[in-house]
Amino acid sequence: MTETVLITGCSSGIGRETAHCFLEDGWEVYATARNPADIEALGEAGANIATLDVTDEDDVERVVDRIIDEEGRIDCLVNNAGYAQLGPVEDVPVERVKDQFEVNVFGPHRLAREVLPHMRERRTGTIVNVSSLAGRVATPGMGIYNGSKFAMEGISDALRPEVDDYGIDVVLVEPGPVDTAFMDRVSDEIDGLERSGAYESLYDVLADTEAIGGGGPGAIPPRRVAETILDAANLTDPAARYPVGQIAKVSVLARFLPAKLQDKLYGLVFSLASKNPLGD
Ligand code: NAP
Repeated sequence: MTETVLITGCSSGIGRETAHCFLEDGWEVYATARNPADIEALGEAGANIATLDVTDEDDVERVVDRIIDEEGRIDCLVNNAGYAQLGPVEDVPVERVKDQFEVNVFGPHRLAREVLPHMRERRTGTIVNVSSLAGRVATPGMGIYNGSKFAMEGISDALRPEVDDYGIDVVLVEPGPVDTAFMDRVSDEIDGLERSGAYESLYDVLADTEAIGGGGPGAIPPRRVAETILDAANLTDPAARYPVGQIAKVSVLARFLPAKLQDKLYGLVFSLASKNPLGD
Protein backbone atom coordinates (compact mmCIF):
# COMPACT_ATOMS: atom_id res chain seq x y z
CA MET A 1 0.00 0.00 0.00
CA THR A 2 1.06 3.57 -0.67
CA GLU A 3 2.71 5.56 2.10
CA THR A 4 0.44 8.21 3.62
CA VAL A 5 1.29 11.69 4.87
CA LEU A 6 -0.76 14.20 6.86
CA ILE A 7 0.35 17.83 6.45
CA THR A 8 -0.96 20.86 8.35
CA GLY A 9 -1.12 24.45 7.05
CA CYS A 10 -1.27 23.68 3.31
CA SER A 11 -3.04 26.90 2.27
CA SER A 12 0.24 28.54 1.28
CA GLY A 13 4.03 28.60 1.50
CA ILE A 14 5.98 25.63 2.83
CA GLY A 15 2.88 23.50 3.53
CA ARG A 16 1.55 23.83 0.00
CA GLU A 17 4.95 23.04 -1.56
CA THR A 18 5.38 20.08 0.77
CA ALA A 19 2.04 18.65 -0.36
CA HIS A 20 3.16 18.98 -4.01
CA CYS A 21 6.53 17.36 -3.28
CA PHE A 22 4.96 14.32 -1.59
CA LEU A 23 2.40 13.99 -4.43
CA GLU A 24 5.20 14.03 -7.03
CA ASP A 25 6.98 11.32 -5.02
CA GLY A 26 3.90 9.07 -5.16
CA TRP A 27 2.66 9.41 -1.59
CA GLU A 28 -1.01 9.41 -0.58
CA VAL A 29 -1.30 13.01 0.62
CA TYR A 30 -3.79 14.41 3.13
CA ALA A 31 -3.40 18.15 2.74
CA THR A 32 -5.19 20.18 5.40
CA ALA A 33 -6.01 23.83 6.04
CA ARG A 34 -8.34 25.96 8.12
CA ASN A 35 -10.24 27.01 5.00
CA PRO A 36 -10.80 24.18 2.50
CA ALA A 37 -11.25 26.68 -0.36
CA ASP A 38 -7.52 27.46 -0.01
CA ILE A 39 -6.53 23.88 -0.88
CA GLU A 40 -8.98 23.10 -3.70
CA ALA A 41 -6.12 23.25 -6.22
CA LEU A 42 -4.21 20.65 -4.20
CA GLY A 43 -7.33 18.45 -4.37
CA GLU A 44 -7.33 18.85 -8.15
CA ALA A 45 -3.63 17.90 -8.16
CA GLY A 46 -4.45 14.58 -6.46
CA ALA A 47 -4.35 15.29 -2.72
CA ASN A 48 -7.10 14.32 -0.30
CA ILE A 49 -8.16 17.57 1.34
CA ALA A 50 -9.56 18.18 4.80
CA THR A 51 -10.43 21.08 7.05
CA LEU A 52 -8.10 21.20 10.04
CA ASP A 53 -7.47 24.02 12.47
CA VAL A 54 -4.60 22.79 14.66
CA THR A 55 -6.15 24.52 17.70
CA ASP A 56 -9.32 22.42 17.35
CA GLU A 57 -9.20 19.04 19.11
CA ASP A 58 -12.27 17.75 17.19
CA ASP A 59 -10.73 18.64 13.81
CA VAL A 60 -7.54 16.79 14.70
CA GLU A 61 -9.41 13.67 15.86
CA ARG A 62 -11.78 13.68 12.88
CA VAL A 63 -9.00 13.98 10.27
CA VAL A 64 -6.77 11.31 11.85
CA ASP A 65 -9.77 8.93 12.18
CA ARG A 66 -10.65 9.54 8.53
CA ILE A 67 -7.13 8.72 7.34
CA ILE A 68 -7.03 5.53 9.42
CA ASP A 69 -10.49 4.52 8.05
CA GLU A 70 -9.48 5.20 4.45
CA GLU A 71 -5.80 4.15 4.42
CA GLY A 72 -5.24 2.18 7.61
CA ARG A 73 -1.93 3.98 8.19
CA ILE A 74 -0.17 7.31 8.70
CA ASP A 75 3.49 7.03 7.75
CA CYS A 76 4.37 10.67 8.19
CA LEU A 77 2.95 13.68 10.03
CA VAL A 78 4.25 17.09 8.97
CA ASN A 79 3.52 19.70 11.63
CA ASN A 80 3.94 22.77 9.44
CA ALA A 81 1.14 25.19 10.41
CA GLY A 82 2.48 28.18 12.30
CA TYR A 83 2.84 31.94 12.48
CA ALA A 84 5.02 34.46 14.28
CA GLN A 85 3.85 36.78 17.02
CA LEU A 86 6.65 39.33 16.93
CA GLY A 87 7.02 42.38 19.17
CA PRO A 88 8.96 43.31 22.32
CA VAL A 89 8.21 40.79 25.07
CA GLU A 90 6.70 43.42 27.40
CA ASP A 91 4.28 44.67 24.74
CA VAL A 92 2.76 41.27 23.92
CA PRO A 93 -0.31 40.55 26.08
CA VAL A 94 -0.56 37.12 27.69
CA GLU A 95 -3.62 36.24 25.55
CA ARG A 96 -1.51 36.61 22.42
CA VAL A 97 1.26 34.50 23.91
CA LYS A 98 -1.36 31.82 24.55
CA ASP A 99 -2.61 32.11 20.95
CA GLN A 100 0.97 31.72 19.68
CA PHE A 101 1.56 28.60 21.75
CA GLU A 102 -1.88 27.19 20.80
CA VAL A 103 -0.85 27.11 17.14
CA ASN A 104 2.93 26.54 17.26
CA VAL A 105 3.23 24.23 20.28
CA PHE A 106 -0.08 22.76 21.48
CA GLY A 107 -1.20 22.15 17.86
CA PRO A 108 1.79 19.95 16.94
CA HIS A 109 1.53 18.19 20.32
CA ARG A 110 -2.20 17.53 19.74
CA LEU A 111 -1.45 16.03 16.32
CA ALA A 112 1.48 13.96 17.59
CA ARG A 113 -0.67 12.47 20.39
CA GLU A 114 -3.36 11.54 17.87
CA VAL A 115 -1.07 9.84 15.32
CA LEU A 116 1.42 8.18 17.69
CA PRO A 117 -0.83 5.26 18.78
CA HIS A 118 -1.26 4.31 15.10
CA MET A 119 2.46 4.65 14.38
CA ARG A 120 3.34 2.63 17.50
CA GLU A 121 0.92 -0.11 16.46
CA ARG A 122 2.64 -0.45 13.08
CA ARG A 123 6.08 0.19 14.62
CA THR A 124 6.97 2.76 11.99
CA GLY A 125 6.47 6.43 11.18
CA THR A 126 8.07 9.86 11.01
CA ILE A 127 6.98 13.09 12.67
CA VAL A 128 8.49 16.14 11.00
CA ASN A 129 8.16 19.31 13.04
CA VAL A 130 8.75 22.50 11.08
CA SER A 131 10.67 24.63 13.53
CA SER A 132 12.94 27.52 12.54
CA LEU A 133 16.34 29.10 13.03
CA ALA A 134 14.24 31.04 15.57
CA GLY A 135 13.96 27.78 17.50
CA ARG A 136 17.74 27.70 17.91
CA VAL A 137 18.76 31.34 18.31
CA ALA A 138 16.69 34.00 20.10
CA THR A 139 16.66 37.62 18.91
CA PRO A 140 15.13 40.79 20.37
CA GLY A 141 11.64 41.48 19.02
CA MET A 142 11.00 37.77 18.44
CA GLY A 143 10.84 36.50 22.02
CA ILE A 144 7.34 35.01 21.92
CA TYR A 145 7.89 33.30 18.56
CA ASN A 146 11.33 32.15 19.80
CA GLY A 147 9.66 30.75 22.92
CA SER A 148 7.17 28.75 20.84
CA LYS A 149 9.80 27.29 18.51
CA PHE A 150 12.25 26.58 21.38
CA ALA A 151 9.36 24.71 23.03
CA MET A 152 8.79 22.72 19.86
CA GLU A 153 12.51 21.86 19.79
CA GLY A 154 12.55 20.76 23.44
CA ILE A 155 9.45 18.60 23.08
CA SER A 156 10.85 17.02 19.90
CA ASP A 157 14.22 16.27 21.53
CA ALA A 158 12.44 14.52 24.41
CA LEU A 159 9.99 12.65 22.18
CA ARG A 160 12.66 11.31 19.80
CA PRO A 161 14.27 8.85 22.25
CA GLU A 162 10.87 8.07 23.83
CA VAL A 163 9.53 6.63 20.57
CA ASP A 164 12.76 5.32 19.07
CA ASP A 165 12.09 1.74 20.21
CA TYR A 166 8.77 1.84 18.33
CA GLY A 167 10.57 2.56 15.05
CA ILE A 168 9.31 6.16 14.98
CA ASP A 169 11.56 9.04 13.91
CA VAL A 170 11.15 12.64 15.08
CA VAL A 171 12.77 15.27 12.88
CA LEU A 172 13.15 19.03 13.26
CA VAL A 173 13.38 21.11 10.08
CA GLU A 174 14.87 24.54 10.78
CA PRO A 175 14.73 27.03 7.92
CA GLY A 176 16.12 30.55 8.00
CA PRO A 177 14.12 33.12 5.98
CA VAL A 178 11.83 31.55 3.37
CA ASP A 179 10.09 33.37 0.54
CA THR A 180 6.44 32.88 1.63
CA ALA A 181 3.50 35.00 2.79
CA PHE A 182 4.72 34.50 6.38
CA MET A 183 5.55 38.19 6.93
CA ASP A 184 2.05 39.37 5.88
CA ARG A 185 0.55 37.99 9.08
CA VAL A 186 3.56 39.22 11.08
CA SER A 187 2.68 42.83 10.17
CA ASP A 188 -0.92 42.36 11.33
CA GLU A 189 0.20 40.81 14.60
CA ILE A 190 2.61 43.69 15.34
CA ASP A 191 0.07 46.35 14.32
CA GLY A 192 -2.38 44.91 16.87
CA LEU A 193 -0.04 45.50 19.83
CA GLU A 194 -0.50 48.31 22.34
CA ARG A 195 2.94 49.92 22.44
CA SER A 196 4.42 50.85 25.79
CA GLY A 197 6.62 53.48 24.11
CA ALA A 198 9.75 51.91 25.60
CA TYR A 199 10.93 49.99 22.54
CA GLU A 200 10.50 52.27 19.53
CA SER A 201 13.94 51.51 18.04
CA LEU A 202 13.10 47.82 18.20
CA TYR A 203 9.84 48.50 16.32
CA ASP A 204 11.90 50.38 13.70
CA VAL A 205 14.06 47.30 13.18
CA LEU A 206 10.95 45.10 13.01
CA ALA A 207 9.39 47.49 10.47
CA ASP A 208 12.51 47.16 8.29
CA THR A 209 12.24 43.38 8.56
CA GLU A 210 8.54 43.57 7.60
CA ALA A 211 9.40 45.76 4.60
CA ILE A 212 11.92 43.15 3.44
CA GLY A 213 9.25 40.46 3.93
CA GLY A 214 9.76 36.77 3.33
CA GLY A 215 11.56 37.48 0.07
CA GLY A 216 14.51 39.41 1.54
CA PRO A 217 18.16 38.80 0.72
CA GLY A 218 19.14 35.20 1.40
CA ALA A 219 15.54 33.97 1.60
CA ILE A 220 15.13 30.54 0.06
CA PRO A 221 12.18 29.25 -1.97
CA PRO A 222 9.68 27.13 0.01
CA ARG A 223 10.47 24.24 -2.35
CA ARG A 224 13.89 23.85 -0.68
CA VAL A 225 12.25 23.31 2.70
CA ALA A 226 9.62 20.99 1.20
CA GLU A 227 12.32 18.81 -0.40
CA THR A 228 14.15 18.58 2.93
CA ILE A 229 10.93 17.45 4.63
CA LEU A 230 10.32 14.80 1.94
CA ASP A 231 13.91 13.56 2.14
CA ALA A 232 13.64 13.19 5.92
CA ALA A 233 10.37 11.27 5.55
CA ASN A 234 11.94 8.88 3.02
CA LEU A 235 15.06 8.13 5.08
CA THR A 236 15.09 5.09 7.36
CA ASP A 237 17.41 6.85 9.80
CA PRO A 238 16.99 10.64 9.43
CA ALA A 239 19.01 13.21 11.39
CA ALA A 240 17.47 14.85 14.44
CA ARG A 241 17.52 18.32 12.83
CA TYR A 242 17.95 19.85 9.39
CA PRO A 243 18.84 23.55 9.14
CA VAL A 244 17.73 24.71 5.67
CA GLY A 245 19.47 27.50 3.72
CA GLN A 246 22.79 29.26 4.23
CA ILE A 247 21.43 31.81 6.72
CA ALA A 248 20.12 29.05 8.97
CA LYS A 249 23.33 27.04 8.71
CA VAL A 250 25.62 29.98 9.52
CA SER A 251 23.44 31.87 12.04
CA VAL A 252 22.90 28.80 14.20
CA LEU A 253 26.59 29.09 15.14
CA ALA A 254 25.55 32.13 17.23
CA ARG A 255 24.47 29.53 19.81
CA PHE A 256 28.15 29.05 20.61
CA LEU A 257 28.77 32.75 21.38
CA PRO A 258 28.70 33.75 25.05
CA ALA A 259 25.30 35.32 25.86
CA LYS A 260 26.91 38.63 26.92
CA LEU A 261 28.62 38.90 23.54
CA GLN A 262 25.36 38.13 21.71
CA ASP A 263 23.63 40.88 23.73
CA LYS A 264 26.37 43.38 22.83
CA LEU A 265 26.07 42.55 19.13
CA TYR A 266 22.30 43.07 19.22
CA GLY A 267 22.80 46.36 21.09
CA LEU A 268 25.13 47.49 18.33
CA VAL A 269 22.66 46.51 15.60
CA PHE A 270 19.85 48.42 17.30
CA SER A 271 21.88 51.56 17.85
CA LEU A 272 22.92 51.53 14.19
CA ALA A 273 19.35 50.88 13.04
CA SER A 274 17.78 53.45 15.32
CA LYS A 275 16.54 56.56 13.55
CA ASN A 276 17.90 58.59 16.45
CA PRO A 277 21.06 56.75 17.53
CA LEU A 278 22.26 59.51 19.88
CA GLY A 279 18.98 59.41 21.74
CA ASP A 280 18.25 63.15 21.39
P1 NAP B 1 2.68 30.85 5.53
O1 NAP B 1 2.70 30.86 4.03
O2 NAP B 1 2.10 32.01 6.24
O3 NAP B 1 1.95 29.50 5.99
C1 NAP B 1 1.55 29.27 7.31
C2 NAP B 1 0.47 28.22 7.28
O4 NAP B 1 0.07 27.94 8.62
C3 NAP B 1 -0.76 28.68 6.52
O5 NAP B 1 -1.25 27.60 5.75
C4 NAP B 1 -1.74 29.02 7.64
O6 NAP B 1 -3.10 28.85 7.30
C5 NAP B 1 -1.34 27.93 8.63
N1 NAP B 1 -1.95 28.17 9.94
C6 NAP B 1 -1.84 29.23 10.76
N2 NAP B 1 -2.59 29.05 11.86
C7 NAP B 1 -3.20 27.84 11.71
C8 NAP B 1 -4.09 27.07 12.49
N3 NAP B 1 -4.57 27.51 13.67
N4 NAP B 1 -4.49 25.85 12.03
C9 NAP B 1 -4.05 25.38 10.85
N5 NAP B 1 -3.23 26.08 10.04
C10 NAP B 1 -2.80 27.28 10.48
O7 NAP B 1 4.15 30.70 6.11
P2 NAP B 1 5.26 29.58 5.89
O8 NAP B 1 6.53 30.32 5.75
O9 NAP B 1 4.86 28.61 4.87
O10 NAP B 1 5.26 28.91 7.35
C11 NAP B 1 5.14 27.51 7.57
C12 NAP B 1 5.96 27.11 8.77
O11 NAP B 1 7.34 27.43 8.53
C13 NAP B 1 5.59 27.82 10.08
O12 NAP B 1 5.57 26.88 11.13
C14 NAP B 1 6.73 28.81 10.29
O13 NAP B 1 6.95 29.09 11.64
C15 NAP B 1 7.89 28.07 9.65
N6 NAP B 1 9.00 28.93 9.20
C16 NAP B 1 8.80 29.91 8.28
C17 NAP B 1 9.88 30.71 7.89
C18 NAP B 1 9.74 31.83 6.88
O14 NAP B 1 10.66 32.69 6.79
N7 NAP B 1 8.71 31.87 6.08
C19 NAP B 1 11.15 30.48 8.45
C20 NAP B 1 11.32 29.46 9.39
C21 NAP B 1 10.23 28.68 9.76
P3 NAP B 1 -4.09 30.11 7.04
O15 NAP B 1 -3.87 30.47 5.59
O16 NAP B 1 -5.43 29.56 7.32
O17 NAP B 1 -3.69 31.19 7.98
